Formats: sequence, C-alpha cells, structure tokens
Amino acid sequence: MALAHRLADAVQRLGIESSFEVLARARALEATGRSIVHLEIGEPNFDTPEHIKAAAIAALTANQTHYTPSAGLPALRDVIAEHAAHRRGMSAYSRENVLVGPGCKPLVWNILSAILTPGDEVIYASPAYPAYACASGYLGAVPVPVPLVEANHFRMDLERLAAAITSRTKLIILNSPQNPTGGVLTLSDLTTIAELAQRHNLLVLSDEIYGYDLYEGTFCSIASLPGMRERTVVIDGFSKAYAMTGWRLGFALLPTDIAQAANLFNNNTFSCATTFVQYAGIAALEGPHEPIYAMAEELRQRRDMVVAGVNAIPGMHCTVSHGAFYAFPNITAITNDDQHFAHYLLDHAGVACLAGSSFGVGGSGYLRISYASSREEITEGLQRLAHFIPAYRPQNA
Ligand code: PMP
Repeated sequence: MALAHRLADAVQRLGIESSFEVLARARALEATGRSIVHLEIGEPNFDTPEHIKAAAIAALTANQTHYTPSAGLPALRDVIAEHAAHRRGMSAYSRENVLVGPGCKPLVWNILSAILTPGDEVIYASPAYPAYACASGYLGAVPVPVPLVEANHFRMDLERLAAAITSRTKLIILNSPQNPTGGVLTLSDLTTIAELAQRHNLLVLSDEIYGYDLYEGTFCSIASLPGMRERTVVIDGFSKAYAMTGWRLGFALLPTDIAQAANLFNNNTFSCATTFVQYAGIAALEGPHEPIYAMAEELRQRRDMVVAGVNAIPGMHCTVSHGAFYAFPNITAITNDDQHFAHYLLDHAGVACLAGSSFGVGGSGYLRISYASSREEITEGLQRLAHFIPAYRPQNA
C-alpha cells in the first residue's frame, strides 16, 4: 500500500495555474488520437526572432554556461535598466533596481516573499492571474479581490478598490493589459490608484508583461506617475512580447531595498537564470524591434477574428479586449457552470480553453480563449464551438 505522507499544511493554500493542467489533459487526449484545438495556454505561437536565437547560440559557443550573480548578469541588468525605463518614458533605472529570474512567475513569488508578512492584506483584481493570490495566501497574507467590471471593459471598480483599503493593506497588485480579461487600465484609473497608494502609504506591484500587446491607446506604467517610482515594483519579461515562453526569462524593476531582500530568495531558490538565455535577453532588448511590433499587430487582427466569431455564436457575448491576447466571453446565457462547460468543450468539441472561475470567483460565468494560437487553429476552434455549443446541456438541467 502506498504510504500517505504528511505534507505541509500550507500546501492546502496553494491553487494552480489551470492552463498547464488543461494543456496536459489536452495533450493526453491528443496522445489517444483525438484532434484538439489549443486555445488554452497563454503563449504566442510565433517563433522566437532569429537575432535572439543567434545570440543564445553565440553565448553557448563562447561557453557562457556558468553561474551568474543571482540578481542577473550585470550587462543584462544595465540594458534592462536603460531600455525598460525608456519604454515607460522614465529616466533610466540603475542596475541595483533590476532583478532577473527564470520567468516572471518566480520573481512574483520571490518579491511577494520579500514584502509580505502574515496578516498583511493584498488587493488584487478578480479574475486575475492565479499566482498573485496563491503566493500571497501561501505566505499567510490575506488576498482581497476587487471585481473587474465587464460593462467597464474589465477595468477595476475604483470605488470598490478604495473601499477595500484598510489599515492592514500593504500592497495593490495591478496587471494591465490583463490576463484573463484583456482589460486595460486607463491613465485616469492609474492616476486614481497612484493617489490612493500615496495617501495610504501602499506598495504597488504592476505586472506589465503584456505591455506590448496593447491594441488601443498608448501604454502607461503606474511607475512613471509622480511619486510612484519609489513605491512600485514593475514585473516584465520576455515570454509574451518576444515569444520566449520556454526560454524562461523575466525581470523586475523595483526599489533597491526590495530588490536586495527579494534577491535573497533568488539566491536561495533558483540561484540565477540560465546564463546563455540571459545573453539572448540582451539581444532581445537591443533589437531590432520590428518582429515584436509585427507579432503584436498580428495578435490585434486575431483579436478581431475571435471577438467577431465568438459574438456570432448564440449564447456567448464578448467585449472587445483592449490588450493581452485573451477573449473573455460571458457564457451565463448558456450555463452558470463554466468549469463543466469548459470540460464539455474539451471532451466533445476537442477545443481546449479555460473556465473563467479558474482565475477566481470574479471569472465565474466566463471562458478564457487565448488567441495566441495560429489563425487556422482559431478558425477551426470557432467552427467547432459554433457546432457543439447548441448541443450542450447544463449538468443539472
Ligand atoms: N504575469 C502574467 C499576467 C501572466 O499571464 C504570466 C504568464 N501567463 C506571467 C506573469 C508569467 O510569465 P513568465 O513566468 O513566463 O515570465
């Protein structure tokens, strides 16, 4: 008989990022010969641009295969400090304000580990990228969700945000453009949030990983607003903009004291990001940048395809997402059980997408459809949805 091990109590507070789970289920179905359309995982189907691959190969050939400092290669941190600030319309950061890691996700964990004490309250949007609530809850902090409003193109309800602030609030987490809704905060939203953060002496973690995937308006970072640089941690990375998900490379721009504390966690966990990948990161930031803009433009066109296609399906209604690469259709006219519906779509239609409630209660009644897949796959997926949805019967109907 298998031994039942006594696991850490805190494990029970851990959720998961369901895209990886659904991807695994979809791949298992494919292994049995089923044809599956992948609209679940948030990764651009583009190849990583050639000059970035060439830089990694050159670094390998030059035997750049040893450890780097746990905060990242100084040369990469310098390029990030310069490039990332310039992109946000700010004067350059210094390398002490830059932390590099194997993807943004471990940096989110390490930075929250450096900031949060049990009992601290963390305000974040619901639905949201699951790592924020997972890490905060695991660390004994209290995640406080504030709903995103569909009628408001999935921007945060700022009155509810203000009302959620208490004497225990330490941090507000923002993600714009947003996963999973595609919502984008306006300059006026960011200005209000900045005022609240300053009035209540709060930190802001601004996850800007989808900053290049913006289809309306111009990108603005809350860090660039007056008085915000010293209380903002910006999360950014290479996965989405540069089609580098599997390379695992991300970075943060942050005040030096938080950088030093979070770097203790880098040091104690992954030691450093892969060395030749960090050299590829330098090439990515140095350019040419045309491939990045071309990918973003292609994603904008796919967004239009998906939104039009989804809205043509009876029972589904989808607002036009302004950024990231996700459509977030409302399916409440079909069912209240988005998990059951997503399972049905995978099992019967062979379409993998995610239940909105996988991103928190605020996502219940929605689906997340990633349009980072090819146009062919999107077209096929939409056809299957249109064909199979009329036959769907809710579980307890
Ligand atoms: N933030 C958000 C909002 C994301 O959607 C993702 C990936 N899905 C990440 C961070 C993590 O990206 P990575 O670890 O690949 O850099």
